[in-house]
Amino acid sequence: MSRMLSKELPDIENILALNPRVKSHAVLHSTVAKKAEKKHWKRNTEKGCDSCVNLENNFDDIKHTTLSERGALREAMRCLRCADAPCQKSCPTNLDIKAFITSISNKNYYGAARAILSDNPLGLTCGMVCPTSDLCVGGCNLYASEEGPINIGGLQQFAVEVFSKMGIPQVRMPDLPPPEQMPQSYHSMIALIGCGPASISCASFLARLGYSNITIFEKEKYAGGLSSSEIPQFRLPYEVVQFELDLMKDLGVKIVCGKGLGQDGMTLQSLKEQGYKAVFIGIGLPQANRHKMFEGLTMEQGFYTSKDFLPLVAKASKLGMCSCRSALPRLNGSVIVLGAGDTAFDCATSALRCGARRVYVVFRRGFTNIRAVPEEMDLAKEEKCEFLPFLSPREVILKKGLVNAMEFCRTEQTETGEWVEDHEQIVRLKADFIISAFGSVLNDPKVKEAMAPIRLNRWGLPELSVESMQCSEPWVFAGGDVAGFANTSVESVNDGKQASWHIHKYLQAVHGQTVSSEPRLPLFYSPIDTVDISVEMCGIKFPNPFGLASAPPTTSATMIRRAFEQGWGFALTKTFSLDKDLVTNVSPRIVRGITSGPIFGPGQGSFLNIELISEKAAAYWCQSVSELKADFPHNIIISSIMCSYNKADWTELAKMAEVSGADALELNLSCPHGMGERGMGLACGQDPELVRNICRWVRQAVRIFFPPFPNGT
Ligand SMILES: Cc1cc2nc3c(=O)[nH]c(=O)nc-3n(C[C@H](O)[C@H](O)[C@H](O)COP(=O)(O)OP(=O)(O)OC[C@H]3O[C@@H](n4cnc5c(N)ncnc54)[C@H](O)[C@@H]3O)c2cc1C
Ligand code: SF4
Repeated sequence: MSRMLSKELPDIENILALNPRVKSHAVLHSTVAKKAEKKHWKRNTEKGCDSCVNLENNFDDIKHTTLSERGALREAMRCLRCADAPCQKSCPTNLDIKAFITSISNKNYYGAARAILSDNPLGLTCGMVCPTSDLCVGGCNLYASEEGPINIGGLQQFAVEVFSKMGIPQVRMPDLPPPEQMPQSYHSMIALIGCGPASISCASFLARLGYSNITIFEKEKYAGGLSSSEIPQFRLPYEVVQFELDLMKDLGVKIVCGKGLGQDGMTLQSLKEQGYKAVFIGIGLPQANRHKMFEGLTMEQGFYTSKDFLPLVAKASKLGMCSCRSALPRLNGSVIVLGAGDTAFDCATSALRCGARRVYVVFRRGFTNIRAVPEEMDLAKEEKCEFLPFLSPREVILKKGLVNAMEFCRTEQTETGEWVEDHEQIVRLKADFIISAFGSVLNDPKVKEAMAPIRLNRWGLPELSVESMQCSEPWVFAGGDVAGFANTSVESVNDGKQASWHIHKYLQAVHGQTVSSEPRLPLFYSPIDTVDISVEMCGIKFPNPFGLASAPPTTSATMIRRAFEQGWGFALTKTFSLDKDLVTNVSPRIVRGITSGPIFGPGQGSFLNIELISEKAAAYWCQSVSELKADFPHNIIISSIMCSYNKADWTELAKMAEVSGADALELNLSCPHGMGERGMGLACGQDPELVRNICRWVRQAVRIFFPPFPNGT
């Protein structure tokens, strides 16, 4: 009978052959044979463009930073939670990066998303597109380590993406009265012009503050600004913009598309006449910076500006953005992209998806002067775009009316750092299409006229205060690209956030109200935060079932205060005694549990603690309890007390604790740490007779509830 492979093990020699052996001689294979074999085992693609992946029509995610859950948990674990985290200081929106990474390591993805969206209502967009090596990641203390800096953008994207799939709406801050009970000032009409990141952020914060009459006017038929119209789908999917717009609309913000400043008679003045009390201008820089040399050239001839090209790509590749169902522009042939900013690289990688065979990115300066961050350029490099530095465009060469080539001259940097053109060194590059990506401006005269009466600066942009984002007319504010300081999404979001507080301050002042001198913008809330998780036990209502045990976490009253501020529902004080029984702890004797390793979060094993009872006097604890109860009346404080077997002592201490305002007492009859030798704690708890008598004495002394703390050791 033949051998059954599924039942019988193959020959032991075959298994052994897989294991390494001590070699008796060097191995020899020809170079040609190795080269031929290589493709069977190596994972990376062949060099040379013949094997390039065909990217035509492929709009799948290409970001290196995107993380799976496993990847996110491992990355979160690497974070050092630096005391003075430089990443947080480098984030324009001041995200609490340590907090959201800690929430991710605890698998609390909602908590992470909530922390992110609280400071940045476009937290998902920013997680995907922020040039992080110049921002948060650029500050990471691990930058110099062999493992590299933390992938903060990727972690941010992961957390908010998980949240986006939960389908949970945003709600107003639970403490706010319902809209109909808000003071009149909160019903003021507010207009925001342009629906890009700056306005979405500004409107979200205004709505969180309680304003109920907010309208965004967008000249296009779609909202989202450049995130929709220019940043390509493979870096920022359209659904992401929709998700963030929906969160804003959950708070009642209205978007009116197809209406814009300078269109159909809309001006700042007309908005004022219609009753708008404050206006935010967030129109970005809507026109391409088009060089004179391209005058008269058209798309039909093969010439595009980035502002012609990218919106066409977006409309054809972003499902749901445009009902026009237009096709991708066809760029079959060679394409020259002029410029070296993020826009140029998006044009280059998009051109490949429109059928381009070769893409040349040509720029005036060297690689060391490129404006875009390395991660933006890397994507174009990986997709095999070619880079040609030190070339300045001179002339477009047409053949039969179509783009046929472009002529450039060499540029050089002089010793004084100046860039000069050398017209004796000419380069001609054949191409079928040219896309210029020389940045954007605001030069539509109708829009500029419509902005009267605000003053414009020498660049034709609104003159404003960098602190309040307020223009020369106090009821007009501006932010984002049009304000002239921001040039990234996250900075535009921050401009909008900043303006929201000052619009609030202005509107309240108009109604004779003042607001706090320190900005107090509300956090992100969802119905999850309003779920009642209070529990009632023995007549005591705990706001939630999460509390601090009487242990090192309650060593001091400041620690309890901090825990209450963070949302903990109750705390048991560290056990205290009468002054005559005070102890001295050599130090807080806490060490990380031996099973913990370097892991935070769920993998954290334990802490070891051999502290005695509190070394702080009963007077300290009683005063602290009174202070804490005054500031946190709904939180529960249980005073943990301990005496030796003495009726007078238990009576005195229990009464003191009750008078201080404690909600309940814990009679510590169990502490094993050096207290038993003093006839306290464990020494009392092991004798039922003593326990019964102590309970009787305390019962006679106080009316509050006291569960004795049995000996669990
Ligand atoms: C191709 C490209 C790639 C980019 N990549 C990145 C990146 O990877 N990371 C990054 O952080 N930043 C990137 N940026 C920059 C970023 O997109 C901008 O800084 C940001 O979008 C500016 O936001 P905003 O709200 O000021 O303006 P915009 O996003 O420009 O939004 C302005 C809105 O106003 C509308 N509007 C214009 N005029 C009027 C009018 N008269 N009336 C009414 N509405 C009007 C526009 O249609 C638009 O919807 C990129 C920019 C481009 C062009
Ligand atoms: S918003 Fe941008 S800069 Fe800020 S932490 Fe997130 S990725 Fe970094």
